[in-house]
Amino acid sequence: MSALVSESPLQTSLKNAPLARLVEQGAALLLEASDSGKLDTQVLLCHVLDKDLSYLHTWPEKVIADEAFLHFTRLLERRLAGEPVAYITGIKEFWSLPLKVSPATLIPRPDTEVLVEQVLACHQQNKLSCLDLGTGTGAIALALASEQPAWQIDAVDFNVEAVMLARDNARSLKLRVNIYQSDWFKQVPADKRFEVIVSNPPYIDGEDKHLGQGDVRFEPESALVALENGLADIITIASGAKEYLTDGGSIYFEHGFEQGGQVRSILTRLGYSDAKTTKDFAGNDRITQANWIINQLEN
Ligand code: GLN
Repeated sequence: MSALVSESPLQTSLKNAPLARLVEQGAALLLEASDSGKLDTQVLLCHVLDKDLSYLHTWPEKVIADEAFLHFTRLLERRLAGEPVAYITGIKEFWSLPLKVSPATLIPRPDTEVLVEQVLACHQQNKLSCLDLGTGTGAIALALASEQPAWQIDAVDFNVEAVMLARDNARSLKLRVNIYQSDWFKQVPADKRFEVIVSNPPYIDGEDKHLGQGDVRFEPESALVALENGLADIITIASGAKEYLTDGGSIYFEHGFEQGGQVRSILTRLGYSDAKTTKDFAGNDRITQANWIINQLEN
């Protein structure tokens, strides 16, 4: 380590520590900045070493090379400053798919997998047309494409950087999704019809104090915050979707844990039927779906 021009205090304190101690010390340092400090440290180490978790368990006594050590301490410093692990490594796994992420997109959350599960459980046919609005990294659309490769899936995002990233993810994963720039439905061809429309739109109220905590501080506000207590985009999408859904088509939203009742009543007021909410892994309301039946009065 003598070649170092100037060592940061973190580098000095961890110098020559074997892997097991780097993990232990990283976890201790991250106690306040993260609620998963040990795992975060392991993920950063694996990223730097280009190894998987089993390597850390197999070689706990190994002292890593200077270059890797410097790289690791720089990444740990970024994590200590609050930056999300996914933005530091540039990768987040969703539905077992390694997705590239960037600060232009929301980091895919495990709870969003409940939306994917719900769509797959309710639509088992292998031919289907689907639209994902505000796709970000492409997470929902790509997860659906990985399970149902014959579905015709369109995915749109307002942000051109997100569109490029989602296309990049589709290419790397060899999944077929038609991804393009659109402000909700504006650039979706007027004659297109979908049997399923899904969205994880922004739904957080701008005054919500949780915006000042954790990963969301680093995520794009446009992907998180919506007017009207967080419901404005859900209302816009639910209204617009009526022109694009087939008769009997279904819509699925991710929303905040206190918005289930409001989203069901928005959908019912707009003329949708069978509005139903599903809970996330923590037991909170998270996904609401409903059906669009055009001639229900005549049936
Ligand atoms: N579920 C995310 C959070 O609360 C927000 C995602 C979103 O706004 N679509 O951190």
